[in-house]
Amino acid sequence: MKDLSPNSWEARADAHSFYGFTDLPTIEDRGAVVLTHGEGPYVFDVHGRKYFDGNSGLWNMVAGFDHPGMAEAAKAQYDRFPGYHAFFGRMADQTVMLSEKLIEVSPFDDGKVFYTNSGSEANDTMVKMLWFLGGAEGHPNKRKIITRKNAYHGVTAVSASMTGKPYNSVFGLPLPEFLHLTCPHYWREGHEGETEAQFTQRMADELEDMITREGADTIAGFFAEPVMGAGGVIPPSEGYFQAIQPILKKHGIPLISDEVICGFGRTGAVWGCQAYGFMPDAIISSKCLTAGYFPMGAVILGPDLTDRLQAASDAIEEFPHGFTASGHPVGCAIALKAIDVILNEGLLENCQKMIPAFEAGLQALADKHHNIGEVRGKGLMGALEAVKDPATKEPFGPDVSVSERIANACTDEGLICRPLGQSIVLCPPFIVTQDHLDEMFSKLDAALTKVFAEVG
Ligand SMILES: *Cc1c(COP(=O)(O)O)cnc(C)c1O
Repeated sequence: MKDLSPNSWEARADAHSFYGFTDLPTIEDRGAVVLTHGEGPYVFDVHGRKYFDGNSGLWNMVAGFDHPGMAEAAKAQYDRFPGYHAFFGRMADQTVMLSEKLIEVSPFDDGKVFYTNSGSEANDTMVKMLWFLGGAEGHPNKRKIITRKNAYHGVTAVSASMTGKPYNSVFGLPLPEFLHLTCPHYWREGHEGETEAQFTQRMADELEDMITREGADTIAGFFAEPVMGAGGVIPPSEGYFQAIQPILKKHGIPLISDEVICGFGRTGAVWGCQAYGFMPDAIISSKCLTAGYFPMGAVILGPDLTDRLQAASDAIEEFPHGFTASGHPVGCAIALKAIDVILNEGLLENCQKMIPAFEAGLQALADKHHNIGEVRGKGLMGALEAVKDPATKEPFGPDVSVSERIANACTDEGLICRPLGQSIVLCPPFIVTQDHLDEMFSKLDAALTKVFAEVG
């Protein structure tokens, strides 16, 4: 499989590109997959092999890999004004327009937007805003940030501290002041005999206990993904946000919705908070914001945080934060086009239309394969979790690398999908047709059949 000749793309990738978030034994075995271009939901490698990308790149390429309008918007803006910053009271007209648009399509009546280059930086920025606010409002101890185990909020030192994954211990993270609650995954975390409603209540009690123990005056904010994405597509337990939001409100703790994956339609609603019926104090957006055609993140502040942060900034005559490429005009032009394509050119509609077929396809695989312990998801994202023993939910041993094996078998079939823990995650782009879904599920079916015959 692996082409070892020194001039191969695989060898050249190995020689000078440092892999991140990559299973190195897989690379050792098979080499990197080096890609040249894409068409619709497909990507092509240097050997001309075609893959259906069941993960929309990294959740973000929802308009596919060759949307003509997106490239045109980028080209037009590069020709017009190819770059600028948003410091010192100067910013591009496209930046002004994107902020207006984001507030218009947000669940907020009013608000303001701050731009970054990534989702991690947007979370990092939000934490700095909350710390800034604590100091300015006379609560300098309001610094602790609450998230959940298994949450994914990014990789900068602060956002990695928010991320509730054990791998961050290799960096000596989390930093102090970052607290993690139980992951609200009823199937995995529910106790013997506990109903889902009781489980949700236990999650809410745990939050209340943490606030009491730590002191509400030490807590700056609570961050949550409406559906945990990189945690393995984990929707919250029934009634979760309805149970926790009043507790946060009572203690004056802002609820920040990390919508980097859920935002712009993935759940079937424009925002994940709308899919789950809660109103956050701010929204973190990235990934689909530009349909993956430009690196960009945004902090979208609701009216209360806008007013308070404005007052805090006025008091010292500045908010001392920003990135060189914050509000980049090309990124803003691309985002304006992406939002238009998703909301007005039928992408969100198609996403909504395909959800039942997507769910049915996942369910059919779970019904067929005894070693699938749970099928879960929301909208056009889903996961199948492999278990050694479905009766006890006992996982496969780590030596089996079950999800890597499945993902590698999928690659051989011409399907890109992602192993996460012991789950396989699918999140196809919003342009998918029934034929695409049929192809995706039949390839995954073949891979599951092969791997479970070996290890099941
Ligand atoms: C991907 C992701 C991030 C981090 O975004 P980057 O652009 O990779 O820094 C943050 N939060 C969530 C929910 C994500 O899925």
